[in-house]
Amino acid sequence: MQIPENWLIHQDATPLNENDPDMLRVHSIETFGTHDGPGIRMVIFAQGCQFRCLYCANPDTWDVKGGTTKSIDEIVQMAIKEKPYFGKNGGVTVSGGEPTLQRSKLLQLFTKLHAHGINTALDSNGKLLNDEVKALLSETDYLLLDVKHFNDDWHHTLTAVSNQSVLKVAEYRESTGKPMWLRYVLVPGYSDQEEYLHQLGAHFKNYLTIEKIEIQPYHLLGAHKWEAMGLEYKLKDIKPPTAEALQKTAAIFKQYFKEVKIN
Ligand code: SF4
Repeated sequence: MQIPENWLIHQDATPLNENDPDMLRVHSIETFGTHDGPGIRMVIFAQGCQFRCLYCANPDTWDVKGGTTKSIDEIVQMAIKEKPYFGKNGGVTVSGGEPTLQRSKLLQLFTKLHAHGINTALDSNGKLLNDEVKALLSETDYLLLDVKHFNDDWHHTLTAVSNQSVLKVAEYRESTGKPMWLRYVLVPGYSDQEEYLHQLGAHFKNYLTIEKIEIQPYHLLGAHKWEAMGLEYKLKDIKPPTAEALQKTAAIFKQYFKEVKIN
């Protein structure tokens, strides 16, 4: 796989648009989302990512200089208009890409959303934990933390980076007492080894802040984007997990987590 030059420059998670503190670099925005956090949500897909997941459905989010820019106030106004539909649990989720690449802007966004009584969620790959990310997490009502694999070698195979930072982010979130959901992409032959599913469960079973774990079935919907970008999609022969495999994984996780959901 060719690795875009931008990744090598930015894999240390340098914030974007530092000269333009009020603009967020965005891949896309979804209204009335129901898959990324509680209730009905506006979902902002932030541009830029340091991971290179073999199954990434949105490789067009990787380039930190891609996407379009949108002002934070404009996003807040969009959320205010949608607020009547959010109900009791809904709100705004920032996903990606990897949102923490733009942590200082998101801190502004989440603070403004809270001032308008709008709930916030952050869907993160857990690559980064520093004081700015901690400040952002303090304004994040729900952290949706993607644990791509519990075994570090397999995590590296799947994402091109280590899982150590992901475990540290989980540990930090637990120390704050604020809610977190884990998300696990089930890829046949890559992330379905029973031994490591049990290890993941045993590692997190005493965490009080984890409300649920969501199993996300691997799919090939983004494969065409890889081809369009001139990249080799290495999982082209891997089929989505069967219903039986999903149930088997759920049964393992149910031994450790109070709620398990197959998305
Ligand atoms: S973390 Fe998400 S956006 Fe980044 S490469 Fe993985 S699947 Fe794609």
